[in-house]
Amino acid sequence: MPSYQNILCAIDLDDNSAIILKAAIAQAGGELNRLHVIHTCEHPITGYGELTGSNLPTTEAQIKQKAYPEFRRLLESHQIPLSQGEILFGQPSEAIHQKAAELSCDLIVVGSHGRSGLLLLLGSTSNSVLKDAPCDVLTVKLEG
Ligand code: AMP
Repeated sequence: MPSYQNILCAIDLDDNSAIILKAAIAQAGGELNRLHVIHTCEHPITGYGELTGSNLPTTEAQIKQKAYPEFRRLLESHQIPLSQGEILFGQPSEAIHQKAAELSCDLIVVGSHGRSGLLLLLGSTSNSVLKDAPCDVLTVKLEG
């Protein structure tokens, strides 16, 4: 198995994020300085986010700010320096590809729900990341 030096771990901040982070840390052989962690915020109009509620954040800054506490909590609880984490804005698989290329990563770690049928046709982030990825991709199998 190759020894990965520069690993990009993408988390969507759901309950499975800790599982994905742990897999990335294992690939880094516990050397946390080999890790970069990103979360990509999507605008609720273009993403699949909820469109309900009266306090919807609308600007890029507001949307990122809303995601920050959970992102920070996840990094801190895995002893990953905040300087190695970044919240981006855009389409997740594109942002993941772009960041992996920018940082010359040799591995991308994402989760995969192993969807099939209609849900697979609708497209999953892990499949989009695999397609045309600039480096190896580890998909961590998740429940559900
Ligand atoms: P999905 O296909 O949406 O279930 O997502 C599969 C995996 O892609 C997640 O477990 C994450 O690793 C990654 N991912 C999905 N959405 C995002 C996001 N907004 N930001 C960063 N990573 C994401």
